[in-house]
Amino acid sequence: MANQNNQKGELLKKVASHAKEYGFIFQSSEIYDGLSAVYDYGQLGSELKNNIKSYWWKSMVQLHENIVGIDSAIFMHPTTWKASGHVDAFNDPLIDNKDSKKRYRADVLVEDQIAKIEGKIEKEVTKAAKRFDDFDRKMFMETNPRVQRYLGEIETIKARLKNGLEGDLADLKKLIEDLGIACPISGSKNWTDVRQFNLMFNTEIGSLSEGANKIYLRPETAQGIFVNFLNVQKTGRLKLPFGIAQIGKAFRNEIIARQFIFRMREFEQMEMQYFVKPGEEMKYYGQWKEFRMKWHLALGMGEENYRFHDHIKLAHYANAASDIEFDFPMGFKELEGIHSRTDFDLKAHEEFSGKKLQFFDPKDNESYVPYVIETSIGLDRMVLSVLAHAYTEETLEDGSSRTVMKIPAPLAPYKVAVLPLVNKDGLPEKAREIANLLKLDHNIQIDVKDAIGKRYRRQDAIGTPYCITVDYESLEDNMVTIRERDSLEQVRIPIDKIQEEINERVSINSLLKKLI
Ligand code: ATP
Repeated sequence: MANQNNQKGELLKKVASHAKEYGFIFQSSEIYDGLSAVYDYGQLGSELKNNIKSYWWKSMVQLHENIVGIDSAIFMHPTTWKASGHVDAFNDPLIDNKDSKKRYRADVLVEDQIAKIEGKIEKEVTKAAKRFDDFDRKMFMETNPRVQRYLGEIETIKARLKNGLEGDLADLKKLIEDLGIACPISGSKNWTDVRQFNLMFNTEIGSLSEGANKIYLRPETAQGIFVNFLNVQKTGRLKLPFGIAQIGKAFRNEIIARQFIFRMREFEQMEMQYFVKPGEEMKYYGQWKEFRMKWHLALGMGEENYRFHDHIKLAHYANAASDIEFDFPMGFKELEGIHSRTDFDLKAHEEFSGKKLQFFDPKDNESYVPYVIETSIGLDRMVLSVLAHAYTEETLEDGSSRTVMKIPAPLAPYKVAVLPLVNKDGLPEKAREIANLLKLDHNIQIDVKDAIGKRYRRQDAIGTPYCITVDYESLEDNMVTIRERDSLEQVRIPIDKIQEEINERVSINSLLKKLI
């Protein structure tokens, strides 16, 4: 079998069109020409999303006795966002090209430039690796003058970028000019000044006659956890360290909305805030980095496709931060953030609300504001990572080709398709019997239309890990053929063994077992 899917540049487009064709993801309000960076999940996409949510929720709440889950409202008192810093500091620096009238994030333009220099370094390394048998990458990087010059350039750019992001917008514009960055559309270097743009959406609550108040659509779910910290701690009688988990929608008026569901204006987050004693945060930060990476690796989507990226510019609330990056079709990008948020949020809410948000530690007989470790993953980005990794075009040994979604079995929208070989002679009835055995535990399909080969292709295209074929012999011997999606292996097993066989391979528990 040959995977022809090595054109990474094309992959995102192919995934998006496949996702639409089979009912995973549609552009929002498509009949009105769509709404930019807003998407709807169709019949398969919502199943996939629910399975990811279930894996996350169970791994955080069910597997950890000291983590509980909540579901807080999207609307919050507007002072919440003053306290959190979002009103004043949740900005992206934007810049317009005067000729194309296109808008860009200034920091992204600079980061793309850094990626180009990193590409040049990689080229030097690859060239040298071909010349020497016992090539030592580290030594080469440290001694090769050209590589050293590139690394020096990157350092200088990063330092100026950091400075720019901390407020020196004039120098950020100058950096873009100094680097000779041109607009990819117009090719010109005719830029406006860099301006700050707040990413929060706002609306009004109450009627105008009541004197409506401006409120925001939450840009993250975390603040709903912070403001409920004491409610949950007291009513749940929780002791430090403990965590509060939440899955919910968040909204950001992103300047550049592109790359399919990677950067959306309405998206879903799965966040967990872990409250710890001050001074112990680094220990837990390390533990959570490790656990979250394990969660990803348990899916079996390839260790080489994940890496940590420690932040150069820390957010205003953090004393350490790292991203788990995934090798998306556009290259390695943030999938999840793990942040040590100190006591910034709780302290700020104490100050703005005038209420104490402290934990009384009976062991030390003292009260303090806990420190917080946060793990925050975008559900939609997770869906994209799964779809992009799954999408495979294959030529089979018999010369035919297929497009198969190699979705990790526990996340697949349908776990099993039951296929009677023909739609008569008692075979459909037998198929229904089998379906009834499985449907209490799993989402399954019965498909009776078309030749069996065509039905297999249809199931491959939506990522169904197992097809069960019922034939005439099944009526005699109560055995069926199970076909495995990725290996195409077919084995015959007794009908009364199916439940056990399938459960073992497709349940969320099969993933959870790898985490404990
Ligand atoms: P980025 O740098 O890509 O804008 P971020 O650092 O602002 O992301 P966080 O505020 O740390 O992101 O949010 C946590 C997670 O939420 C991210 O790791 C990502 O998976 C997800 N996320 C953030 N913004 C978006 C978005 N616009 N669309 C989809 N997912 C998002």
